[in-house]
This record gives sequence, structure tokens and C-alpha cells, in this order.
Amino acid sequence: MNTLTWNTEQLIEQDIAHHLHPVTNLHRHKQGGPVVLVEGKGSKVRDTEGKWYIDGFAGLWNVNVGYGRTELAEVAREQMARLAFQPTFFGLATPPVIELATRMHQLLPHHSHFQFTSGGAESNETAIKIARYYWALSGKPEKTKIISRRMAYHGIAMGALAATGVPAYHADFGPLPPGFLYLSAPLAYRNNPGLSEAEFVGMLARELEDLITREGAETIAAFIGEPVQGAGGVVPPPEGYWQAIASILKKHDILLIADEVITGFGRTGAMFAQTTYGFQADITSFAKGITSGYIPLGGVGITPEIFERISAPDRMFMHGFTYSGHPVACAVALANIDIIERERLWQNAAERGEQLLRRLQELESHPHVGNVRGKGLMALVEVVEDKTSKKTFDASKGMGAKLMKVSREKGVIVRCNDTGFAIAPPLVITEAEVDQMVNALAETLDEVLDL
Ligand code: PMP
Repeated sequence: MNTLTWNTEQLIEQDIAHHLHPVTNLHRHKQGGPVVLVEGKGSKVRDTEGKWYIDGFAGLWNVNVGYGRTELAEVAREQMARLAFQPTFFGLATPPVIELATRMHQLLPHHSHFQFTSGGAESNETAIKIARYYWALSGKPEKTKIISRRMAYHGIAMGALAATGVPAYHADFGPLPPGFLYLSAPLAYRNNPGLSEAEFVGMLARELEDLITREGAETIAAFIGEPVQGAGGVVPPPEGYWQAIASILKKHDILLIADEVITGFGRTGAMFAQTTYGFQADITSFAKGITSGYIPLGGVGITPEIFERISAPDRMFMHGFTYSGHPVACAVALANIDIIERERLWQNAAERGEQLLRRLQELESHPHVGNVRGKGLMALVEVVEDKTSKKTFDASKGMGAKLMKVSREKGVIVRCNDTGFAIAPPLVITEAEVDQMVNALAETLDEVLDL
């Protein structure tokens, strides 16, 4: 265990003075300051004051193998000492990037080639650009539009942001790149007008067909979607949704990009959610769980057909980042995938995920819990002001901040906002920890929503 001591007061003061936090109410943060975390073990993290929390959000849905895996630190140390960096531009490579591309092909056999990035947004930028490039080199340069969905989250770089379908992320950052179109999220709780599951899928499929008819398939490059929508509000799709979407896209010659940034590497109960839901994308983007957050890494996989088309004799592929295929990150990814496979963590995600959903569903009797949904170790408890109208709490009530404060007091870190809790613990979480976490969240709801 860590023997270092920390000056909490000074750290908080300096954080408030100099650290610009992402996705944070900056005004409120000036009063509250950060919780400063210093070490982790398994599914738990400890703050400067010695208090341990269950990390019910696995960092940001990414610490799949849990904390304290010293073998990953060792792999990083060895690679840094041997060869800290070489690019992958201009035909250069290192053994870790070659091995990782090969390993990814084994995990996603419908993709033959992989390019790496530093995270999810870069991966989606890459996926969108490859889709457009593919059509340009196919003699169809007018196929450029990207279909996305409301509640989608694909990252905050401009292209990925335009594909993101959550208005709060767009506000005051415009103008966004043009050419992005949005469909309904496959969220039964809010979007199913009382149809059967199959009819609901039919309704969503028709919405896609209508959009394609309106815009013209000859103008559309790709459809991008998270197999289970995550940051926009955890939306596991209805049965048959992905098969319906994939077959319409195929019929109209539109590429399918699966954003597996959250769902990849075990979270939904299989290594990739394309297996969970039985479909295959033309391009898959991934990040997060590939290194379990021990070091930044993301990437995309493409089909042999796309690879052949973009390997034109007279063209350079003018896309890539300085850190595409960073050797240290790739070495860590290989060791991280070893752990996921050795410990069959997708299986634990499936088993603990069932327990988590079952336990969370007990909360549906609460007068302000409107809906509980999830798949594997991704779940959401949606709170509403009124269960009949499904009206959410007004932002002025500061519900998210209250839920965050009380749940942290009770030793659980989850993502809280005005519409409830999103939960995505490390895939190593134990049965007892799931119970402990749900009990703490239930107490939090009772305390905050005793209105
Ligand atoms: N896609 C999805 C599905 C995500 O959940 C995220 C991050 N939460 C991203 C893309 C963006 O990843 P990053 O923050 O690493 O750029």
C-alpha cells in the first residue's frame, strides 16, 4: 500500500487555481474543488484522506481490468526503456504495433487492418474520414453525409462532436461541420409509442429508410452508432435492431461504423458488442478498454474491401496522428488483452451485469425512478420528477450535484446528472461489491429524493 502522504488542502487550492476541468460545472467547482484520488486496487480507489470508494464508473467506463495491475506498469517500463517512441508514419513500425494489429484481427476477424489513435474521438474522426475516403476512391465523392442518432456520444473533437447527438455538448461551440444527420435513439422508455418490440424496431427502420429516401443514398457515406449508447443515457437496443439497421444500410450502399469505444473489450458480456448483438460493421472504432486506461490508446479496424480500395497505387493515405501506434501504449494493450482473456472478464461482466440490473430494478418502485436499463456492466437509473409524464427534474434543482455529493459520501463513485446515475464498474467487480454499490445508491436516492 501507498505510504506517501498528501497535503489535501494545498492540492485542492491549486486545482481550483490552475486546473481547467473537462465536463464540470466550473462555477460550482470553485467552491467545492476536486476529490483527489491517489491509489486503486481492483474496483476500489482511495482519496488523499484515506477514504476508499467503489469506482462504479471504472474511471470513465474504461478501467476494465481494475486497478493495481503492476504487470501493465512493468510492460510499459520495459518498452519505454527499450524504445520509448517511433512513429508509424512513412512505413515505420515497432513490434508492439504490429503484434497489436495482428491481435485485433484475431479478435475482430472481419477487419483485416487496424490503425491506432490516442482515444475515442480520434478513432471516430478516423472512421468518418476513412468512410469518406473510401467513397471518394470508389468514384463517388459526393457520398459524404454521416447518419448518427440522438443521444449518441462519439467524442468532442469537431467531427466526432458533430456526430454526437446530445445538444448540451454542442451548445456554444459552433459552427459544427455540416453533413451530419440524426435519427431517434432506440430508447423504448421515451421513444416507443406503445408498440411491441418488433414493431418498435420496424418504426426505427422506417425512420432510417425515410431519411435515406429524403437525402439520397448517393449523398450518404456512413451510419455511425454505439452498439449500446453510453454517455447519452445507456440505451441497449431492442432485439433485432442492429440486424434491421445493417441490412438497410447494405441495401443502400452505406457503410456501418460501430463505435465500440465503451462496449469493446468485454463490457457487454462478449469481447465486442457486435458479437452480443450479432452484426458486423464495416469499420469499428475502439479505445478505453483496450488499455483499461493504464495509458491512452484507441483505434479503428476496417474490412479487407475498404483496405483494398484505399490502397490505391497513386495515393498516400494522408491521415494519422503523431501517436498512432505508440509502442508503449500498444505493448500495454497487448498485456491488458492477455488479462481480459486469461480471466475471461467478459463472462464476469455478463454475470455481474445480470446481478446489477436485477438489483437496480428493485429501485423501480421508488417514486422518482422512471426507468432502469442496462446490458452487461453498463446501466442507468433514470430519475424523473413525475413518473406519469416522465418529466425530468429542472436543472435549477441541482439534482445531479446532490446525487453526486451523497453517493460519494456513501463511498461510491458513479456518473451523476440531473437524470440519474450511470453505472459501469470495472469488469472485475465482485458480487459483494455490486450489492454494496447498489445499496449505497438506493440510500442515496432515498436521501436526495425524499421530496
Ligand atoms: N465514443 C464513445 C462511445 C464514448 O463513450 C467516448 C467517450 N466517453 C468517445 C467516443 C470519446 O472518447 P475519448 O474521450 O477517448 O475521445
